[in-house]
Amino acid sequence: MSSLPAPLPADHGARVVVRYHGVPEPYASGQQRRDLALLGLRSAADGSAWALQEPFGAFTWFPVNDHPSDEALYDVAITVPKGWAGVAHGTYRGRTEMGRTATYHWKSADPVACYVTLFTVDRYRMYRAKGPRGIPITYWVRREDRWDLPVARRLPELLRWMEQKAGPYPFPSAGLVVTSRSGMETQQMITMGDDFLRPEVVLHELAHHWFGNSVSPRTWRDVWLNEGFAMYFEIQWTADHSPGSMDDHMAEIRSREKAMRKEMGSPGDYRRDWFAGANVYYGPALMLHEIRKRVGDERFFAMTRAWVQEHRNTSQDRASFTAWVNQHTGEDFTELIDTWLDSRASPRGS
Ligand SMILES: [Zn+2]
Repeated sequence: MSSLPAPLPADHGARVVVRYHGVPEPYASGQQRRDLALLGLRSAADGSAWALQEPFGAFTWFPVNDHPSDEALYDVAITVPKGWAGVAHGTYRGRTEMGRTATYHWKSADPVACYVTLFTVDRYRMYRAKGPRGIPITYWVRREDRWDLPVARRLPELLRWMEQKAGPYPFPSAGLVVTSRSGMETQQMITMGDDFLRPEVVLHELAHHWFGNSVSPRTWRDVWLNEGFAMYFEIQWTADHSPGSMDDHMAEIRSREKAMRKEMGSPGDYRRDWFAGANVYYGPALMLHEIRKRVGDERFFAMTRAWVQEHRNTSQDRASFTAWVNQHTGEDFTELIDTWLDSRASPRGS
């Protein structure tokens, strides 16, 4: 590390250029979830590479304050041999060619948390589509994964469904790249492993664009704000597209939630080694359903839409969420929220 040549004046902008190079290696995180055991950038012998970094791991491939509340704007350029493609978060701005190489350009107009940044290089083919209100969409799929295209192509339909429930999609473009061994809400370009590619999982990652990407968690203690909402919309989508009511579907996850809470602890009790355990998905989704039952469908969804609109590009936590729910409903939900997040045993529903 070198130090600054002169002290910077307080409250003034400064331009900092950091040059770095290297061969990134993934980080062994010690996480219980197997898909999170290795974090950061991974590369294969054939030259392909992909990065997955929730809760952290971006530090393996670029200089960053690897914290969910420290967001930034990004311009990304990835230079690859012709026949290969470089895919990143943000909006695709086209490719330029020089000799035997091609450079892929990506730009984000909204702040991005480093855990939803994306870098992947492979022999992708690009397909274009249009979402609601003309939102440009690109899909990036390798030839051998082309069977996944029909599910990827459901993105416009899933976006429309989410917009009806949660309000306007908060970003200027969307997309999906088939890579990795997991599903991740990488901003404006969802990362989906071949074995995870089902419409309800795509819907879940898309829902994170409202809950997680646009309205971000202040610390990882608030990860239930991401997963509770995404899970809730995933269950609602499933209920709308299969037999059984939303209440039936929620009743079904209740018994599973009990077991998860017993095994992994309460959703509000952050465990460093068990990031994004199933307990932060199901309990908070059930909690949201309890709030909905108390205030009714119309007020619940109006409140949900306003939560995103009013907190766009900000970081939020339990205190601000609780205060906001109380203010919006005129009722005191503090005890209900705290019980669902902190109780060692599964709370009784209404
Ligand atoms: Zn999720």
